[in-house]
Amino acid sequence: MMRKVIETSGTSSRCRKNVFEKRPHVHFPNTFQENYPHAMPDLAEPVSDPALAPSILLVEDEPGIVDFLKRGLQAEGFLVEAALDGVEGERRALCESFDMVVLDLMLPGTPGMEVLSKLRDVKPDLPVIVLTARGEIEDRVAGLDAGAVDYLVKPFSLAELLARVRAQLRVAAQTSTTTLECAGIEVNLLTRKVRRAGTSVALSTTEFELLVYLMRHRGQVLSREQILSAVWGYQHDPATNVVDVYVGYLRRKLSRSDTPAPIFTVRRVGYRLGDGA
Ligand code: CA
Repeated sequence: MMRKVIETSGTSSRCRKNVFEKRPHVHFPNTFQENYPHAMPDLAEPVSDPALAPSILLVEDEPGIVDFLKRGLQAEGFLVEAALDGVEGERRALCESFDMVVLDLMLPGTPGMEVLSKLRDVKPDLPVIVLTARGEIEDRVAGLDAGAVDYLVKPFSLAELLARVRAQLRVAAQTSTTTLECAGIEVNLLTRKVRRAGTSVALSTTEFELLVYLMRHRGQVLSREQILSAVWGYQHDPATNVVDVYVGYLRRKLSRSDTPAPIFTVRRVGYRLGDGA
């Protein structure tokens, strides 16, 4: 827990009344996922493999909010770093590689709006969620021409923030990567065209989703349960053999006379896509 907090004289009384400060020691169980298990199919990935978890830089100076958000986001599987003033926030957002920035506007050091416009100039694709006090900066934020910006008005619930974070990460994922390539397979995520060794391969929607999932985790051993929840969702019967059936379809379509499909069976675990056995 970070104790070295720069207290700002600019902290408004409005902020002081927010939900975080009222419940500084609140223990929040991981209920969002329990309440909305089907709203967040992406969750399977960060939780099951921390190395793949999206990283978030939280730029916020109020310790109660930092503590609350950090624990809440971490509980959902995100990697979270906190910067406690605008100077540090801007430096880290520009120099380090984060998947998203959650940025408070009322900050000591560099004001949040300045940090935001710098980020828009230098890293236009980096998604930013802005935290504002009600009625304060809303108009200015809304007036910004910034596709990667969303904003939340304080006080907000953790569930609201998580929903925005997921939505922004989905948009970013769709726009930043358009092609995947591995083991002689090329996938275009925009046109949904697939090629193996230069010739096109026609896949059904489910086969395509399965291939994309395997390629995004190339080289990793994926269990049937991981694949099932990522591609088919949680509602599927875990006893089903649908994963094996569809891996079979994919192998057949991707194999060439001289080269088998690069999808390997890992005994008693699942599958791995990659070069070599
Ligand atoms: Ca603040």
